[in-house]
Amino acid sequence: MHDFASARELMIETQLRGRGISDERILAAMSRVPRERFVSESFRAEAYEDHPLPIGAGQTISQPYIVALMLEALGLSPQDKALEIGTGSGYATALLAELAAQVFSVERHPTLADNARQTLAELGYTNVKLFAGDGSLGIPSAAPFNAILVSAAAPEIPGPLLAQLADGGRMIIPVGRDDSQQLQFVRKVNGQLIVSRGELVRFVPLISERS
Ligand code: SAH
Repeated sequence: MHDFASARELMIETQLRGRGISDERILAAMSRVPRERFVSESFRAEAYEDHPLPIGAGQTISQPYIVALMLEALGLSPQDKALEIGTGSGYATALLAELAAQVFSVERHPTLADNARQTLAELGYTNVKLFAGDGSLGIPSAAPFNAILVSAAAPEIPGPLLAQLADGGRMIIPVGRDDSQQLQFVRKVNGQLIVSRGELVRFVPLISERS
């Protein structure tokens, strides 16, 4: 039997704190969410390793450090309404559910959306709504959002997501093509968008029906 709790704490100390993640709410959330539940049986022993893992349909669950970095950038408060694009396994969705009041998440692959819905229900998350579809359109009926987390790389930031950001809202998104992507952080202040650039990253592509 694998000791997941110890592996989780070691991941938090070495991969997160050790690399500068210091937000205690995020570290506490990451010590509560059982990452092993978001991967298939055959990858469970690797759930806390320092890299992405396959989750089916050619997609991956993001490396823990990258998830923490993106969550830290979003600066979530317990009152926030959050939107996630690219539910995948539902791991980051669970973390958003721990950190925000309400989470809306969109996944393009219906089977991944169904699996994530089941995992999140089994773990008791009730403040999450999952949708199967094209997340680059956002969810106009639930907008505006205080925070938007995009887990797939777009050639440019989709306009509908910028439009659905609340005033004072924050978005983090990998932007670029297959082999060259960078995290971009967007803030909306008095209706103006302020964009800054961060780490070089590698995500699966955001497949948009728009382009
Ligand atoms: N946060 C997830 C990451 C999954 S990888 C996790 O940790 O498990 C990114 C996901 O984005 C994939 O599941 C992929 O199917 C999905 N995706 C790609 N384009 C999309 C789109 N236009 N709308 C919604 N989801 C999309």
